Amino acid sequence: MAEQVCPRCKTTSYQNPNLKLLVNVCGHKLCQTCVDVLFTRPSAACPECNTPLRRSDFRIQQFEDSFVEREIDVRKKIVKVFNKREEDFLENEDPLRAYNDYLEEIEVIIFNLVNKIDVESTKKKVEKYKKENEAVIRKINSKLSQESERVKLQLEVEEKEAEERRKKFELKEEHEKKAKNKEKDALIDDLIHANASADEVLARHHMTKLQIKKDEEKKSMFFQGKSKSSNTGTSKLPIKEVPLYKYEPLSINVCGPDVPSSEDIQGKGYSKNVRPATAPEKAAGYTESIACQRAISEAFNGLFL
Ligand SMILES: [Zn+2]
Ligand SMILES: [Zn+2]
Repeated sequence: MAEQVCPRCKTTSYQNPNLKLLVNVCGHKLCQTCVDVLFTRPSAACPECNTPLRRSDFRIQQFEDSFVEREIDVRKKIVKVFNKREEDFLENEDPLRAYNDYLEEIEVIIFNLVNKIDVESTKKKVEKYKKENEAVIRKINSKLSQESERVKLQLEVEEKEAEERRKKFELKEEHEKKAKNKEKDALIDDLIHANASADEVLARHHMTKLQIKKDEEKKSMFFQGKSKSSNTGTSKLPIKEVPLYKYEPLSINVCGPDVPSSEDIQGKGYSKNVRPATAPEKAAGYTESIACQRAISEAFNGLFL
């Protein structure tokens, strides 16, 4: 963001790096200090446009353009009243059309309020709608808050699960680390005190290590097998033993004489009767003997029938 300046006290963000500009419904900015000075009571007038403002409505400016800020304010208020969703229009003759008309109406209202066009009549329209649809608005709002509550709960559950997984993993790592250290200590101990050569001690330790690893693998396989019934995602598919594939050359009964091989077609002059392949055709892998062989096999097919 470029350098900011409070329009009232002229403090800039250069002079005060912590300068926070706040905006209210009218879109005019004020710094926190000015808000504290002006709004000793819960409400006061905007020093620039005299609009009565509530102190609690001030919030940190997010966009440099105060116009955008104002639209956000207006939109938030309007969609709380005009809160129907697409599924609330299903009873209409043309639900999509009705929903789109409704959305357009909302946009017109927001546009008018933001751009200060027909403000009074627009406000009246909103009030009228609010009064006429009070019950519906309340119902949908409570539904929406229930939904967001549910999403929040779901997120919490997921977070908890992730935390548990992380803890489990840490515990496992810790366990492995301890086991490794224990093993190392035991090896050193043995090397010092055992009545055997170093090679023998090492070999023995290697064997016990392998045994432990095997046991652990068995154990984890057992657990995997147990959890398979509840969790099919990670279970392995059984391997089926089948005989190996054996290649056999393709034989087609065409009910006709054998077609000459491509060597014969070239060597015995068959291809003289076919247009020779051009250079681009050759580059693409085509030869005149291919065409010749095809023509011959078509001609021979079914001759013995
Ligand atoms: Zn100020
Ligand atoms: Zn103002």
